[in-house]
Amino acid sequence: MAQILTLCYLVASVTFIIGLKMLSGPATARKGNLVAAAGMTIAIFGTIFLYENDGVKLGNYIWIFTGLTIGGFFGTLVAKKVKMTAMPEMVSLFNGMGGACAALISLVEYNHLSHEIQLSGIETGHTGKMIIMALGLIIGSVSFSGSMIAWGKLNGKIKDFSFAGQNILNMILLLVALLAATWVVMHPGNTMLMYIIFILALLYGVLFVMPIGGADMPVVISLLNSFTGMAAAFGGFLYDNKVMLTGGILVGAAGTLLTMLMCKAMNRSLKNVLIGSFGGNKKGHAAGTKEQGTYKEISISDSAMLMSYANKVIIVPGYGLAVAQAQHACHELEKLLVDKGVDVSYAIHPVAGRMPGHMNVLLAEADVPYEKLLEMEQANDEFKTTDVVLILGANDVVNPAAKKDPDSPIYGMPILEVEQAKHVIVNKRSMKPGYAGIENDLFFQPKTSMLFGDAKKVLQDLVAEIKSV
Ligand code: NDP
Repeated sequence: MAQILTLCYLVASVTFIIGLKMLSGPATARKGNLVAAAGMTIAIFGTIFLYENDGVKLGNYIWIFTGLTIGGFFGTLVAKKVKMTAMPEMVSLFNGMGGACAALISLVEYNHLSHEIQLSGIETGHTGKMIIMALGLIIGSVSFSGSMIAWGKLNGKIKDFSFAGQNILNMILLLVALLAATWVVMHPGNTMLMYIIFILALLYGVLFVMPIGGADMPVVISLLNSFTGMAAAFGGFLYDNKVMLTGGILVGAAGTLLTMLMCKAMNRSLKNVLIGSFGGNKKGHAAGTKEQGTYKEISISDSAMLMSYANKVIIVPGYGLAVAQAQHACHELEKLLVDKGVDVSYAIHPVAGRMPGHMNVLLAEADVPYEKLLEMEQANDEFKTTDVVLILGANDVVNPAAKKDPDSPIYGMPILEVEQAKHVIVNKRSMKPGYAGIENDLFFQPKTSMLFGDAKKVLQDLVAEIKSV
């Protein structure tokens, strides 16, 4: 039995790695997800039916299958019903559940161990396990409560909140939790203290994410992701379960790499992220608070004309394109312009949308060729020689305040420097701000023309207009 279970774990670990590799390209990503899910199924059922401890198999099948059925039912329902635009919130929610699992495992196993210690009276020889449980508890709890706040922020139900001295309080909370954890490790059997650590870590997670404002959430979300992976890996150590360890390490490592990439994209240091001090304290100019001057509008026919006779057009997709589900219409416009001899490409900002890689996924759905996507640095070189930039539902990622206004919450974030092009057409529904809630000077610049309307309708009208030219 044990050998077959080890084989199951080996197969599962291999599928995780292959799945992860396949996730790196849009053409293979869907299959990659299925491959890894199949591996996880093998690992779960292998554990349920083949695991033995001192010759005793798992017996509590009713509990296990009731949990599996309830979780599986709700998970499937939510995943089937979720709109593409609400996907980032769902990912945050699921990530939080992973953290909660890891924290609960630590609590339960600590209780077991305390009980064993009481019965045997032997307090030594548990240090390794104790360290793993304490760390799993802290990291899992921070990941859970932090992800819940991130979920609320992404769906707009929770607003940024900070107060004077919050960073100091955060540091104190973390320090107290770590000191308490050290005490627990040195003096096993103190169940009450474990619950206190649990509460302190939950509180730290809330206070750590609450003030993060502006456009900095992507970094925090990927950091929380890596926390969950680490917490799961601690569970793997605890149970000496290889597949849990591999899965946790892969998620933790992937999340850490993504955090580093996001930090680079947002021009933030990881230290700033960990202290939780960025973004939230700065308010910038909330939309509608500063005299901006006037903006000019452009009609569908003028926009169609401008793009049809251009040599080079760059499309900047943003969150609004995802909201409008206009990716197919966008691809149609692109093909039409290419047929007319226009050089068309897409400028992708790493934090456009509401989840890492959001725009890549969105455009891949509409079969936009991957070669047409320009990374931010590449795009910023190309704008100088571009006739028309068409911005579709993007706002923060093209806001010049990131370069010019030190008071802005997005100050320092690299942006797509669209003002370098000859003409800029901005499509959105109104003058409302984007995620960071701040004004955008770009809309008032002489080169910029506003093309108001829902992105899908506007794109369909543009396609119809260009066809008739
Ligand atoms: P923004 O949120 O800055 O702007 C989106 C714009 O789209 C809005 O101004 C809105 O204006 C417009 N819009 C909404 N619906 C439609 C529609 N149906 N048709 C046309 N326009 C529409 O998006 P960006 O992509 O520019 O920037 C992403 C922001 O989200 C950044 O601040 C980023 O930090 C943050 N973020 C990113 C995450 C990530 O991982 N990528 C995670 C969490 C946050 P209007 O209402 O007037 O139409």
